[in-house]
Amino acid sequence: MKALRIDKEPAYQCQLVDIDEAQFEAELAPEGDVWVDVGYSTINYKDGLAITGKSPVVRKPSLIPGIDLVGRVRQSTHGRWKAGDEVILNGWGVGENHSGGLSQVARVKGDWLIEKPAALSPLQTMAVGTAGYTAMLCVMALQANGVKPEDGEILVTGATGGVGSVAVALLSKAGYQVVAATGKSTEHAFLAELGAASVVARETLSEPGKPLQKERWAGVVDAVGSHTLVNACAATRYGGVVTACGLAQGMDFPASVAPFILRGITLCGIDSVMAPIARREAAWARIAGELDLSQLAALTQVVPLSGAMDAAQAILRGEIRGRVVVDVNA
Ligand code: NDP
Repeated sequence: MKALRIDKEPAYQCQLVDIDEAQFEAELAPEGDVWVDVGYSTINYKDGLAITGKSPVVRKPSLIPGIDLVGRVRQSTHGRWKAGDEVILNGWGVGENHSGGLSQVARVKGDWLIEKPAALSPLQTMAVGTAGYTAMLCVMALQANGVKPEDGEILVTGATGGVGSVAVALLSKAGYQVVAATGKSTEHAFLAELGAASVVARETLSEPGKPLQKERWAGVVDAVGSHTLVNACAATRYGGVVTACGLAQGMDFPASVAPFILRGITLCGIDSVMAPIARREAAWARIAGELDLSQLAALTQVVPLSGAMDAAQAILRGEIRGRVVVDVNA
């Protein structure tokens, strides 16, 4: 079987390897009650960090990266799954603590899996991937906190990235007026095709700003963190809702409490990794029913396993538009 393999010693490295399954089981995947023949995995921002070693994402001396996968169950001792079932996996520490999806074979816990939505092909599920599923968790949080299309503009930051581009597509399809913030001046037409009503330059949000700014946003999907998240909060309208899921600019949050105590805004943290199964199933059912699949195709590129390491470098440079699917059998 072919896989990407990360070894932290003697020096951090990631390489494409061809190993036999006995070695895989012994060295890389000693646990798991379900064996999956993987169809596709993807490159999310976290995969970029793991593959390059830029942040300490990988917690084991050696493992296979890839925080998500779609595939077919080959063998299972888990009560819910049997050979032939089509399954998807996002998070649960896979690709961090446990070998993941950038491999032709995965061995995982059945409790981590959900059924592939019938309305989506395997390729489409990974075009969505963890980034797109996280975008849906943000949309669900906005709506659970009462944000409606008639309330006003929704800001999406990191808009050409994986989370951002799917969030733009989902929100515009649901009738929201989306303002996309991007650092890519060449991609305004792409964002308009996804349904953005207008575009703002990333630089207007990324520098330190006043603690309270002119009220503009009814809601925010933020994949960027740092000053961008602070400025988004500072310009959120009275009673508005900000969802924070990412840190592409930084992990810091150099903020004031003013928007919370003077405008009653809500800041919702979004975590996809440990989200309970029921919330995942709800998110994937909504993705299958609501996402425009032609838009999904437009924001997706497919690379072979041998292209995954270059894509990992590119995502950390902020150069990827939309989503990168990895065909592990190509
Ligand atoms: P991408 O790299 O695809 O998207 C991030 C986007 O952010 C880039 O495309 C770019 O968009 C923008 N960006 C990049 N660098 C900077 C910068 N220095 N300052 C401001 N904007 C920047 O990553 P993903 O969409 O896969 O993930 C986005 C974030 O969400 C990551 O931090 C990731 O770790 C996090 N995440 C969190 C999850 C969770 O469970 N909470 C799950 C999935 C992702 P543009 O050029 O358009 O400005």
